[in-house]
Formats: sequence, structure tokens, C-alpha cells
Amino acid sequence: MSEPTSLYFHIPFCRHRCSYCDFNTYAGLDGLISEYMAALRREAAWAGQAAGVRLQTHTIFLGGGTPSLIPAGELAALLETCRKYFDVLPDAEITLEANPGTVTLDSLSALRQAGFNRISLGMQSANAVDLMLLERQHDTLDVIRAVEWARRSGFDNLNLDLIYGLPAQPLERWQATLKTAMDLQPEHFSLYALSIEHGTPFRHWLERGLVSAPDDDLAADMFEWACERLEAAGYGHYEISNWGRYSGDGMLACRHNLQYWRNLPYLGLGAGAHGYVNGVRTANLRGVRAYIQNMNTGRAADFPAGTAVESALPIDRWTAMQEHLMVGLRLLDEGVSNQTFQQRFGASLEQAFPHQIAHLQEVSLLEWAGSNHDILRLTRRGWLLGNQVFSEFVDLEETEV
Ligand code: SF4
Repeated sequence: MSEPTSLYFHIPFCRHRCSYCDFNTYAGLDGLISEYMAALRREAAWAGQAAGVRLQTHTIFLGGGTPSLIPAGELAALLETCRKYFDVLPDAEITLEANPGTVTLDSLSALRQAGFNRISLGMQSANAVDLMLLERQHDTLDVIRAVEWARRSGFDNLNLDLIYGLPAQPLERWQATLKTAMDLQPEHFSLYALSIEHGTPFRHWLERGLVSAPDDDLAADMFEWACERLEAAGYGHYEISNWGRYSGDGMLACRHNLQYWRNLPYLGLGAGAHGYVNGVRTANLRGVRAYIQNMNTGRAADFPAGTAVESALPIDRWTAMQEHLMVGLRLLDEGVSNQTFQQRFGASLEQAFPHQIAHLQEVSLLEWAGSNHDILRLTRRGWLLGNQVFSEFVDLEETEV
């Protein structure tokens, strides 16, 4: 593996399950945190050694769940393990997802000292009714405090997550949320339209008629409004749901997520974590107890399939080509480079997907861009219809290229 890799650690603990959440996370298992973190360190140590070479690592991301529920000392120990078994580059981006209300000035200072340099805060809304509907465990004051403490602790790279398109959320309420969030001047925004997933309380409420279905047209207006406001405020819209602030050195994108969208390697460690290394997609066991037990007693298969692996699927060339487009087209300006695609797969984009590309160009959802017309990307109209575009590149019958 020549390109630097990324490490994703999954922290599956939360104080409470939010009404819309379908992530692999659990409330009421805090008693297992210490054992879980020990297992995670063991998995990281194993992966670092089993890779055969010391893997250069340029991003580390602790997501969840609520990583900020874990004591700072445990998180610092995990980073130490990473440094011991991986070649963590000096300018590596090291992110911790945090929930407002679960951090203090002391915990953030300790995390900054340990080497974390980016915090992603789950703000979601600045409105008490929205937060109640989402069953979030914080209020706006918690967010303001968390941002201030993060700044005082030396974090100069902050992301705020927000959700729009909630049932009965008028446009003005979303506008007020975004304005409040912008006043906090984060370096990065992730804005997601609410998606109501099966098995969540939200879905149940919807089915019983207790909440109305989100209004897609209104959600599109909210998205458009956010695009305009953020652009005017100096944020670059680089991925469908993500904006980074321009500074002297360019735009502060999330380098870890760029690794996914560029279809580059990452190790997924922890319960339910997914990875993609050496052309193999891995998925770990989802349960916290099952993960710990396997890490304590099991035997690892061949790298990258670890001790707690549930599946390890080699990705053939044709599937990899489709996946490359599905993730790469999320990048709005960067899109998918024909040259990179050709170097990687030995065929051009138009050789691989002639009909799909022609059709999507005809309906003005895809365009060629760049000085050599080498970049395939979504049109502005395509930004809102991304899922329709991506679905054109799923499960295609293999053509000879
Ligand atoms: S805090 Fe995040 S991960 Fe935890 S339940 Fe809520 S949405 Fe899910």
C-alpha cells in the first residue's frame, strides 16, 4: 500500500438513543467502556503489526456513538497505541466526535494535549423544539460552551453537524439554526437532511401518524438557502453535505472523509466498524460484548480481517470501478478524475460506463469539467439528485473493459 492510510475507531456508547439514530451504538453499557477500550487498543496493535509494513497514517477519526463519553486518559492511551504501531504523520488530522454536554474545559484541554486536533460537535439544531423531537441530550448553551472551551483548549479546527428537513420545521427555524451556528465560526459544517430509518422511534411515530413526513421540497429549499449563505460567508462547498472554511492555506476540508470519497484505504476498528484495505472490505461484529469477547479470546484471520471480523469481502475490479464513481461523485468540484480512474483501473470512465454517463449528461445531472475536460462531476442540478445519479452505478452487469 503506497498511499497513506486512515484509521477509523468506532465508539459505540451513548447516554441515550436519539429518536432518529440507526447507528451501531448502545445506551446503558458504560460499565464496559474500560474493557472495550482495552480491546480496541489490542485491535489497533494487531492491525499495525499484521499489516507487514509500518502503515503511514495521515488521518485518525474516532466516531460513534459518543466518543466524548470516554475518559480523556483512555482516548490518549488509544492515540499512544496508534503512534506505537503506525507511522502517524506529524501533520495527521486527528478528530474526535463529541456531543455538547459531554465535554468540559478540562477534558478538551487533555484531549488537545494528547494530540487530538479536530473536534466534530453534534449540534444538530439551535431550537429547543427540534432538539426535543430528536431526543438530543443537550441545549444550545451546551454547544456555545463546548465551542468556547474547545477554542480555549487550542482547537483551531471545529466542525458542527446540523440536521434540516425535520417534520414541522419551518424554513425560518432552520435559518435561525444555521445563523446561530455560523456565529460560532466553525471551520467546517456538515449539514444532513433528516432521513427516517427503519427501526427507529422516529419511524414508529411516523407510522402511527404522530409526526408528519418531512417535506422534500422544503428540505431542498433549506439546502439551497444554506448553500448560498455559507458560500457568501467564505465556506467552500466541497461535498454534497460538507463545507470547509477558506483560510490562507486553502480550504479546511475533512481529510479523513476525503479518504472515503477518494476511495482510498482505511482501517475500521471497533464494534461494527467497516474498513477497506488491500482491496478487501471488512466489517466487524456489531455487539459490544461480542466484540470484546472475540478480541479477548479469538484468533485473527489474515490481515485486514481482524479477530472480531464478521465479514471480509474482496472487491473485484468491476465492483471497485462502480464504487469509485459512487463515492467520488459526492465531491462537487473535485468530482472523479478520468486520469486517476484510468491509472487505477486501466480503462477510461467512458469505456467503463458509456451509457450511464451519456444518459446522465443528457438529463443534465453530470458534466465534464476541468481544463482538459478530464473531471466528471455532478451538475448543480445533480447536487439535489445525487442518489438518483449514484443508483445508476450500482449492481451493473459487467462489461468488458
Ligand atoms: S448521540 Fe449520535 S450516535 Fe448517539 S444515539 Fe444520538 S445520534 Fe445516535
